[in-house]
Amino acid sequence: KQFNQYGLSEEIERALESLGYENPTEVQSEVIPVALEKRDLVVKSQTGSGKTAAYGIPLCELVDWNENKPQALILTPTRELAVQVNEDITNIGRFKRIKATAVFGKSPFHMQKAELKQRTHMVVGTPGRVLDHIERGTLALERIKYVVIDEADEMLNMGFIEQVQAIMKELPVDRVTMLFSATFPQDVAKLADQYLDLPVHIAM
Ligand code: AMP
Repeated sequence: KQFNQYGLSEEIERALESLGYENPTEVQSEVIPVALEKRDLVVKSQTGSGKTAAYGIPLCELVDWNENKPQALILTPTRELAVQVNEDITNIGRFKRIKATAVFGKSPFHMQKAELKQRTHMVVGTPGRVLDHIERGTLALERIKYVVIDEADEMLNMGFIEQVQAIMKELPVDRVTMLFSATFPQDVAKLADQYLDLPVHIAM
């Protein structure tokens, strides 16, 4: 299996080539075609499986470069993961000139605010700081069409359930939502039930 089977744009295929990604990983070959059809997704997968690119590739493909306001919101449990995801997306979207912005705590709010004022296609962040930006009116949500809850089990372990719920309630209803988790305790399954619409289930 190769990446050219998905009908991706030349800019994205070229980026994958430059990253040395020759073939999709297992999770990528399951997730990419479904995400490109804009179906909601619940995915059980471990880190190291290539899950970031599994959602990063379709998101980079789907976002409209001409739109100024953020179209994708990716929630991560830690700043380290937010930084990593931001970097991966920037790499995948480099030839399409996708701009991603990472927002997380313990980093100056005003600098993130300034970055969010520029054109940004995707925002990657931890729940507390994302909610902060929403409440202060520095993160526009009206054009959000794609949402990823990454490492949902970690997110809940770290006590972010209320923040995640508060964010989800603010998002446009007409959107695609993908939830990734290594494990599915009851509260993760419940979160998926609450905020995803007839999701396709994929387990690795
Ligand atoms: P992740 O599970 O998203 O943390 O990815 C694990 C590692 O696999 C990262 O270093 C990625 O850059 C790399 N990776 C992701 N997809 C591919 C692929 N299709 N081919 C080769 N490496 C990949």
